[in-house]
Amino acid sequence: MKGTPLIFERSVPGKEGFRLYAPDVPGVNLSETIGGGLLRQNLDLPEVSEVDVVRHYTKLSKMNFGVDDGFYPLGSCTMKYNPKINEEITAYPAFTELHPYAPEELAQGTLRFMYEMQRFLCEITGMDYFTLQPAAGAHGELTGILIIKKFLEAAGQKRSRIIVPDSSHGTNPATAKESGFEIVKVKSGMNGLVDLEELKKNVDENVAALMLTNPNTLGLFEKDIPEISHILHEKGALLYYDGANLNAIMGIARPGDMGFDVVHVNLHKTFSTPHGGGGPGAGPVGVKAFLRDFLPKPIVEKEGDTYFLDYNMPRSIGRVKAFYGNIGVVLKAYAYIRSLGARGLREVSEMAVLNANYLKKKIQDLFEVPVDTICKHEFVVSAGNWKKKNGVRALDIAKRLLDYGFHPPTIYFPLIVEEALMMEPTETEGKEALDAFADSLMRICDEAQENPDLMQNTPHHMPVKRVDEVKAAREMKLKAGQL
Ligand SMILES: *Cc1c(COP(=O)(O)O)cnc(C)c1O
Repeated sequence: MKGTPLIFERSVPGKEGFRLYAPDVPGVNLSETIGGGLLRQNLDLPEVSEVDVVRHYTKLSKMNFGVDDGFYPLGSCTMKYNPKINEEITAYPAFTELHPYAPEELAQGTLRFMYEMQRFLCEITGMDYFTLQPAAGAHGELTGILIIKKFLEAAGQKRSRIIVPDSSHGTNPATAKESGFEIVKVKSGMNGLVDLEELKKNVDENVAALMLTNPNTLGLFEKDIPEISHILHEKGALLYYDGANLNAIMGIARPGDMGFDVVHVNLHKTFSTPHGGGGPGAGPVGVKAFLRDFLPKPIVEKEGDTYFLDYNMPRSIGRVKAFYGNIGVVLKAYAYIRSLGARGLREVSEMAVLNANYLKKKIQDLFEVPVDTICKHEFVVSAGNWKKKNGVRALDIAKRLLDYGFHPPTIYFPLIVEEALMMEPTETEGKEALDAFADSLMRICDEAQENPDLMQNTPHHMPVKRVDEVKAAREMKLKAGQL
């Protein structure tokens, strides 16, 4: 990032951001008041003025790319546009200034939207009870699998394995491992769906659950889900729904009706909320009635007209998040659901699927298409043809898109597709944006054909060029002198 100094490099010794008036009360010696060496010394913070700070971060923010800048087809992440009304409602002081320890009788409004949100999510997913606590999808997975684990223990069953398809998101096997299970991977069939024969071979009395995303990460609906559910349940195993792709089926199909016992929903994907760059998100978890007692406590309940926090859950897995979850994100999602209504949510999914199929049709001839059928809200193509022909890779094409003003699609995921480019346009894009993206992709493929060397060091016109992404993530340089 040459040319943009770190905030530490802007530091001028003695410069102050804010200066208080001299106090008119006697001073206190802090190092005596705060004993035991707890008072931090030599913080080594940058010494800058307020305007230095504002300009520095404003400049950096302009080097970033968000959905408010342009098209952001990052498959699996559902980077839809977030209506600003959600932000406005979430910023009401009645919500932002409520203390988490406020007595329930003074927090009825907040408890009400939490309760209603639990009910809405039950209605949308076909589950019976929800917790709003988990902070993200991956956290929801952990919560859900711990619920399954505790349920099985309570039933006196020792089951040590969790099955995930080979197309699954990395957080699925990671969750299974962290929760103390062995992971069994099942291969997908040629049609990109779970292979039923492979599944049957792997399901026995030792399997605790199958974790499944539907539609899956190829953007394909697992149409054999009733059969899959039967195979699992017949052996006493449970079915876990990774709800990251719920944006494809809202108001049309419900995981609860498909036979899933536990689900998580990524509110920051399906129900707007800006995300990327680390959050915050929310990953509420829903269960069928027989698992209610194991949910994290408290959940919000209602008696007459009064809302209250139910802590009376002796079999609960315990709390998974401070207080009640990322309530601001839940409130944004609540505002989103209320403003769209049931019919609007269904239309979201219909438009998301239509947009994906329109884009797929426009660009599929440029690439290899691993499974060529109608897709749901996203689809995967392979740049394997370009790699073979002239050494241009999915990464090169993705980075070149930045030069054309687009956020790249997801690449190299799912792992079962070589040189994968995974595109999810979402419902919030108009035809013009999809056409412009497709046109740019065509021009990039022309470039790849005529001048493959040009593609080696893409992007060419961004403030940050090609970086070593592993090194950038593992060896972060945050202080002056490290660059
Ligand atoms: C995003 C995603 C997750 C993880 O969700 P986070 O909210 O990012 O923790 C899990 N599974 C799939 C399929 C996803 O796309």
